[in-house]
Amino acid sequence: MTQRTNRMKSPTKKRRNIQPTLTGEVAFDSIKDCVICRARHQIKMGITVRVPKRQHDKRCPLNSTTKGKGVLHSHTVACIEEGKRLEKLFNAPLDESEKCRITTQGELNAFFVPKPTTTNMPTTMTTTQKRAARPMAEDFARAVESKASDAEFQRRHSRSGAPLAIMALADYVCEHII
Ligand SMILES: [Zn+2]
Repeated sequence: MTQRTNRMKSPTKKRRNIQPTLTGEVAFDSIKDCVICRARHQIKMGITVRVPKRQHDKRCPLNSTTKGKGVLHSHTVACIEEGKRLEKLFNAPLDESEKCRITTQGELNAFFVPKPTTTNMPTTMTTTQKRAARPMAEDFARAVESKASDAEFQRRHSRSGAPLAIMALADYVCEHII
């Protein structure tokens, strides 16, 4: 009975320390898998070991290149390099040419003085006129109807492949809108 209980207990016991990943593999544990972290942990525990002089494991968060992201794609490496370049750029002091030349209160006030507002009466009027001139749906219908029933229009477009009403509509659009 005790044997059976122990047999039942053991898989659970084994599984407890293993964290599975989404793909079913065993998750990275820096103390077990990274030689540097393992050595440092052992030193902390009082065991004298030599810390190897090399980088942390590629999956270790303390690896300065990968930051624990594992084996990197060339694109990711390029992104990290670009990030470093930008960080340097943003931390650098500004050039004289990049600095704001406003130094006195007078210059500041002159810079922020409101621009004279132009009278936009003519613009408004043109817009209104345009709006008034814009044809309504009924205008389209009326124009298409009269054009399609016009004998001359029918004769002119008798050989075109498109339906007569479409030709009439296109004609009206060309005359009044474009
Ligand atoms: Zn490490």
